[in-house]
Amino acid sequence: MGGNGVGGKKRVLIVGGGPAGATTGRYLARYKKYEIILLQWRLDFDKPCGGGVKYRLFSEFDIPEEPIFKKIDRVKLNFQGEEIEVNLGGPKLALVERRRFDALLRQLAEEEGVKIVEGRVRRVNSHRGKFTLEVERGEERELITGDILVGADGVNSTIRKLLLKERLPMVTTCYGTISTPVEVPTFYFDREVGGSFYSWAFPHPTGGHIGSPSPALFRRFVKEYFSPFHSPVKGYNIPLWNGNISIQKGNLFFVGDAGGQVMPTTFEGIYYAVASGRLLARGLGEGLSYPTLWQNRFLREFKFMKMVEKGLNSRFRYRLLSLFRWHWYQKLVVKIWNKEF
Ligand SMILES: Cc1cc2nc3c(=O)[nH]c(=O)nc-3n(C[C@H](O)[C@H](O)[C@H](O)COP(=O)(O)OP(=O)(O)OC[C@H]3O[C@@H](n4cnc5c(N)ncnc54)[C@H](O)[C@@H]3O)c2cc1C
Repeated sequence: MGGNGVGGKKRVLIVGGGPAGATTGRYLARYKKYEIILLQWRLDFDKPCGGGVKYRLFSEFDIPEEPIFKKIDRVKLNFQGEEIEVNLGGPKLALVERRRFDALLRQLAEEEGVKIVEGRVRRVNSHRGKFTLEVERGEERELITGDILVGADGVNSTIRKLLLKERLPMVTTCYGTISTPVEVPTFYFDREVGGSFYSWAFPHPTGGHIGSPSPALFRRFVKEYFSPFHSPVKGYNIPLWNGNISIQKGNLFFVGDAGGQVMPTTFEGIYYAVASGRLLARGLGEGLSYPTLWQNRFLREFKFMKMVEKGLNSRFRYRLLSLFRWHWYQKLVVKIWNKEF
């Protein structure tokens, strides 16, 4: 494929067709200014994920609800022998099957005119304002050139590693499925099983889905709550956001996990990948600064949640969590979390 896009349009290459990449493509295509090619390693990829997403995402971004397998109106916080039920005041959290959800988002992008190509980007070269990707498909190798490059290739971003020589700060979570049904998403904050963060159990179509922020914590978590446990244990990274992670360098952009855009404390990445994808599309479509758009929309929220994370990691951890016994406090936190002000 040549360097100039169809009809003299600039060509945008998006690497990664998860929520961030698919949404960037979907909204960018509406400006009709660019030829957009999205490269996705495997079209059947099932991203390791709890699949929990703010339910309002579906109306806010006009996404069909079909990948939702459960709507959630309460969650539980487990610590120091106590379990506090937090009422969300309605079905404000949705659980999605990631394979179906990601495929749907790519389909929406394709319907807007994005060309989806299955293949793994192995190498990237930047020369005289152009980016050339080497894409692997089985035994085949193909070179694709473009004018603008979007790294939406997740937490282990190849594009970030190759072009910026950087890796993101991240935590490695261990997770597995259980056949015992989990009805209500539950967060386990005791330091012995949750470390600096928490362990979790979520409903899953197979029964339950459980995870911890390290292998040692996972072993203790399982022994304490889900023994005997025989399923395979897997590990995957989640970015730890901080204000220094670069999301643009010239015509190179990062979005979603590849941009570190996962909310501190709650570790929600799906909503912020989708929302950041739309912001990036707006920046490119309207000639606005994407980092500025992102900061105006999210910086305060992310900084606030980073402070909460620090608070929960301090000696006030259990005192802060105990506040959830109060219904007025539950309501307030849910409103802040769901942006209901
Ligand atoms: C165990 C676990 C549980 C989680 N639970 C939740 C949760 O309940 N709720 C929530 O909101 N978030 C959760 N997250 C985080 C969430 O999964 C991510 O934040 C979200 O998937 C980010 O979307 P993304 O599009 O940026 O990246 P990804 O979903 O990772 O998509 C990146 C895509 O790029 C593709 N790709 C990668 N490299 C290449 C390459 N070289 N060439 C071509 N394609 C490539 C990948 O195949 C992938 O499909 C969880 C994460 C983990 C690990």
